[in-house]
Amino acid sequence: MKIIDVKAMILHYTYENGIADAQNFFAARNAVIVKVYTDEGLIGLGESACFGGPPQTTKFIIEQELAPIVVGEDPSRIEWIWQKMFARTRQHGRGGVIFAAMSGIDIALWDLLGKAAGLPVYKLLGGYADAVTPYASSGFYAKGKETGQIAAEVRSYFEKGFRYAKIKIGRNPEVLMNPISKMAFSDQCLYSMQQDLERVQACCDVAEEYGARIMVDANNNWNTFTAIQMGKKLQEMGVYWLEEPLHLDNIDGSAELAAALDMPVAGYESEIGFFRFREFVQRHAVDIVQPDCIWSGGITECRRIAVLAQEYGLPCNPHVFSSGVSLAANLHFLASLPNAGLFEMDRNPYPLRDELLDIRFELAPDGLLHLPQKPGLGVELNEDCVGRYRIA
Ligand SMILES: [Mg+2]
Repeated sequence: MKIIDVKAMILHYTYENGIADAQNFFAARNAVIVKVYTDEGLIGLGESACFGGPPQTTKFIIEQELAPIVVGEDPSRIEWIWQKMFARTRQHGRGGVIFAAMSGIDIALWDLLGKAAGLPVYKLLGGYADAVTPYASSGFYAKGKETGQIAAEVRSYFEKGFRYAKIKIGRNPEVLMNPISKMAFSDQCLYSMQQDLERVQACCDVAEEYGARIMVDANNNWNTFTAIQMGKKLQEMGVYWLEEPLHLDNIDGSAELAAALDMPVAGYESEIGFFRFREFVQRHAVDIVQPDCIWSGGITECRRIAVLAQEYGLPCNPHVFSSGVSLAANLHFLASLPNAGLFEMDRNPYPLRDELLDIRFELAPDGLLHLPQKPGLGVELNEDCVGRYRIA
């Protein structure tokens, strides 16, 4: 089998009312869906992250830079193709948008291999488990979502059977050196640190009624001493983990924080590639390791990161915050791991997650998320949905 073409399409969804994390305000969300075509008619499906940047840049790199590198190759030589893309892009790559673009192709190759072999991807990767424990990931800031509303939101997840829910924290202008003022919609959804603590406490009170746990995500907005101050209060409340508290380049600060807290520090989804994750793991700057198959370098690179995490006795919990294809890829990745942690199930309203595929991923009555058993990722695109949201 030979690769004959690689194409990327852009899907776009606009929110009526935007949602925000500590730094970013999402008025809309984009997804870059990748297809790898072969001479035998099989098509591999993947996705490339485009967080924080125009999706057209990612599409351009996939089609104009990476496609010529992979066309003509045997798609089953996934590691060879990964290393070839890495080598050819080295002088301006080794991270960033190049790795996100590579990720989409890598995922599509795993999908192809599974389709050719007649096996689901997670079984090709070792098939550690047939189901994973998901958590409800939402609790974003939004206009009018005050303490009562966010507590009601997490209650709705626990009512549906989730036993873990994550909310946003850290959109605090009072934090020294915070980057909010440089971001779009920087005047929206701002809260003091004290207000954030009250929101978290209200959610923890709800969680206690259900025997459930709350996690918080500060999306890189704090400095070290703020994170230590807040972290000590959050762990007193029983928060299950503190995610991405610090800037990506403050690895020593993250290690200092992790040493100061009993509560685990989770991260760093915004980091890319094995060699950068190695810094966080080896310097004890994280307790829970969070790569993303569509962002960090594909399933191939995320497997390397997960093995490193296991060597250090750390669980791996992928970041998952995009379309249904991203969900499927990260689900197969997580189910293959002996050090699998929890699976992130974004619960924000998002048709590109719930309607894009021929199946819809839902929490099962047993509280688990079960793996699709069809070959490859086990999903196909719903072309009606593609037609509604495709912009390029
Ligand atoms: Mg996060």
